[in-house]
Amino acid sequence: MTDTVFAQIVRGEIPTDLMYQDELVTAFRDIQPQAPTHILVVPNKPVPTLADVTDADEAALGRMIRVAARLAEEEGIDEAGYRLILNCRAHAGQEVYHLHLHLLGGRPLGRMLSESEEPPAPSDHLARVIPPHNLPRFPLPQPSRDA
Ligand code: 5GP
Repeated sequence: MTDTVFAQIVRGEIPTDLMYQDELVTAFRDIQPQAPTHILVVPNKPVPTLADVTDADEAALGRMIRVAARLAEEEGIDEAGYRLILNCRAHAGQEVYHLHLHLLGGRPLGRMLSESEEPPAPSDHLARVIPPHNLPRFPLPQPSRDA
């Protein structure tokens, strides 16, 4: 896998506005902030995209979300609200192929999606709708009955 700027930040090889680091994740301010608070939370392990995540990455993904929520508190934006964004591959505009969660807030963020440059044709969109009975089933662990 190719090295990325985020892997270099995780290893402390290039300067960044570091917010948090532990054995699983690293958080730092985005170099081109899109909102008063714009922080990126990444797994220390260089997973390229959400589509490349495996069972072994579940702890890091959970930690990413919890760290984002904690940083939102520290930034004082949790009461007003904020948004987490995880872009996956080309249609989502992913630029850096090291999985990352954007924490955005500090102002009203508007609607969730801007108009896409090339909206899909209605037939194309409908073709992507999966009937409920065809939804993929993941082998998720069963909840413990001991609790
Ligand atoms: P993406 O579009 O891949 O979801 O988001 C990549 C983000 O990484 C962008 O918001 C961009 O500003 C940020 N970014 C790119 N290079 C660097 C860098 O060297 N340092 C920091 N802190 N952020 C970066």
